Amino acid sequence: MRIGILALQGAFAEHRETLSLLGVRAELVRTPGGLEGLDGLILPGGESTSMRRLAAWGGLDGALRDFGSVRPVWGVCAGLILMARRVEDEEPFAGLMDMAVARNAYGRQNESFVADLRLERLGGAPFPGVFIRAPRVTEASPDAEVLARHDGWPVALVQGFLLATSFHPELTPDPRMHAFFLQLCAARAALP
Ligand code: GLN
Repeated sequence: MRIGILALQGAFAEHRETLSLLGVRAELVRTPGGLEGLDGLILPGGESTSMRRLAAWGGLDGALRDFGSVRPVWGVCAGLILMARRVEDEEPFAGLMDMAVARNAYGRQNESFVADLRLERLGGAPFPGVFIRAPRVTEASPDAEVLARHDGWPVALVQGFLLATSFHPELTPDPRMHAFFLQLCAARAALP
């Protein structure tokens, strides 16, 4: 399987390392051409304003929208913001996933925290959720499956072949969320 990671800004290298633990050599995507032939794409965490500007500058905005309408995409933190159809006080970017988000709603950088999350779909132990100036999903589509909540708010959601997490699995040694995304990619790749 060919998995890409948007590599304009933010924590892309960490995703690549986690995927390599799972035997996948991910490709770094910086141009629309880099999306060709991929079975899935990760939009990493970082700073969504910088990332969306760089993406638009490189002509990636429309290409990401087109890619996400037919292939699996996983948005992490800032990447989740890029995927949302509604963003409080600003224009949405790719608008791929039907949800509303509020940026930085979990507090400032120095209020970052790790919370044990119950992610039944991953089985086993709680998942360490690393929250860094995370966005809050204030409204999720009834079509989305909420995989995990924190304080009652959704923090991991899947809708069709789209996955969104407001926390950072690539900053933990736990590869289960990445394995889950690879399953989505394999399921999509098996379809015509
Ligand atoms: N606060 C960032 C934003 O709004 C997201 C933070 C993150 O990706 N860790 O873009």
